[in-house]
Amino acid sequence: MDARIDTAAAFGVDLGDAHIIRNAGGSSREALRSIVISEQLLGTREIVLIKHTGCGMLTFTNADAHDLVQERLGQAAAGEIAALDFLPFPELDQAVRDDVAFLRAQSVIPNTIAVSGWVYDVETGRVRHVV
Ligand SMILES: [Zn+2]
Repeated sequence: MDARIDTAAAFGVDLGDAHIIRNAGGSSREALRSIVISEQLLGTREIVLIKHTGCGMLTFTNADAHDLVQERLGQAAAGEIAALDFLPFPELDQAVRDDVAFLRAQSVIPNTIAVSGWVYDVETGRVRHVV
């Protein structure tokens, strides 16, 4: 989701080459619906999961986010999202490993689909393979 990352330029992906699913934290759990559609309806064969350095998701907890909504938007808004997991994470590489493990554990993602996890460095523009 990070506005500093031009995915097409950063990864050499041309228009029509890939489905790029972006969300806060590069969450595989949040992306699962789109991933299943991409693979089962549109025939993609590989998942490249990429999180990035300097990610805002490293900076807060679920309680922090819920408190912020309560404080800024009030009880009704806080109540509407009471069960929402914002999926923050305290450690970048572990979050990449966890998200790849989540994808590999899903029956809707067959073993024939390659899954890898990477970290994009927003300072250098380099990508590092994690898993
Ligand atoms: Zn981020």
